[in-house]
Amino acid sequence: MHPIQMVDTRRQYLKIKKEVDAAVLGVIDSSMFIGGKVVQQFAENLAAYNGSKYVITCANGTDALQIALMALGLEPGDEVITPSFTYIATVEVVALLRLKPVFVDVNPDTFCMNIEKLGQAITPRTRAIVPVHLYGHATDMEAVMELAARHGIPVIEDNAQAIGGDYRFSDGTVKKTGSIGTIGCTSFYPSKNLGAYGDGGAIFTDDEALAAKLKMIANHGQQKRYYHDLVGCNSRLDAIQAAVLDIKLKELDNYINARIAVADFYDKAFAGHPHITIPTRAAYGKHVFHQYTIKLEGADRDELSNWLAEHKIPSMIYYPVPAHRQKMFDSFGGNDLDLPVTDWLTQRVISLPIHTEFEKDQLDYITEKVLAFFNK
Ligand SMILES: *Cc1c(COP(=O)(O)O)cnc(C)c1O
Repeated sequence: MHPIQMVDTRRQYLKIKKEVDAAVLGVIDSSMFIGGKVVQQFAENLAAYNGSKYVITCANGTDALQIALMALGLEPGDEVITPSFTYIATVEVVALLRLKPVFVDVNPDTFCMNIEKLGQAITPRTRAIVPVHLYGHATDMEAVMELAARHGIPVIEDNAQAIGGDYRFSDGTVKKTGSIGTIGCTSFYPSKNLGAYGDGGAIFTDDEALAAKLKMIANHGQQKRYYHDLVGCNSRLDAIQAAVLDIKLKELDNYINARIAVADFYDKAFAGHPHITIPTRAAYGKHVFHQYTIKLEGADRDELSNWLAEHKIPSMIYYPVPAHRQKMFDSFGGNDLDLPVTDWLTQRVISLPIHTEFEKDQLDYITEKVLAFFNK
């Protein structure tokens, strides 16, 4: 049996090695390391895949979120609603820009923003809503967009964990996550569902003027070289990463199907278990399983994690401390917030290995060892 890894990027690479090696060497040979045709081609292919009119590539997913917020022209102290149960990048950029993060609780089944709580959190100072499609599961975007439209608030989707996911509206329309909000953001961090061989990110929008502004902000606020109209930043996807990503984009649906097959296998092994709650898949969307995250009841999570580690099975806690309880938010009084579901989940979630390269003997072994833990 091959060693079990949380994410197996090496074996995934070996299957596309010839094409990737040639493309990377092609970029080096052309010496067009920044910008150029390769980056542009990838951006066009990604826009078509996602059903978005415009794609602005950038250096990473955190930058994508920061640039998106910068493009909305917000004032210090303006309120931005986000879940606290997320990777820190979502909310860190809010604080970095001197905006006020307003944390809302999540739904215990989907791990995503609770819509009722979102409605209650909207005030006259709310200037943006940032739903996170956590672990690859879509937030209920129809409800988010309805609330946002009623109050005239832009929506930035944090799609770093859900690229390729679908969301079905009640009228039957299906859209990709990240293409629904005013702006969508994603990350190409190597372990993400569409991972580069380094850092990368992208921003999606259908709004032409906003696309132009996003592009300027990512490029020192310039449209014409050396004429800087806005204070921006320097955030670029390099051509080597774009070359790799363009090849992997063609495989993305296969990668997602491989992840779903792993999730199906785990579900079958764990469904109905007295101590394990398997992940929910809402009828409105396609879960792309960036993570396979179970909830434990009446069992010690650290003991399970140690038991798995003893058997050479990695596992992870995403995330051990919710954003509102991080030290960086002390000055916002984060610790005093009442987010019971977020706190509850933080104590109970554990993510099992999931990636595109599993073999059946590995999955048999993992499920067997997880189940054996409860029968010790
Ligand atoms: C990975 C991730 C980001 C940030 O992406 P980077 O490319 O690492 O900067 C933002 N939000 C979420 C939910 C993520 O998982």
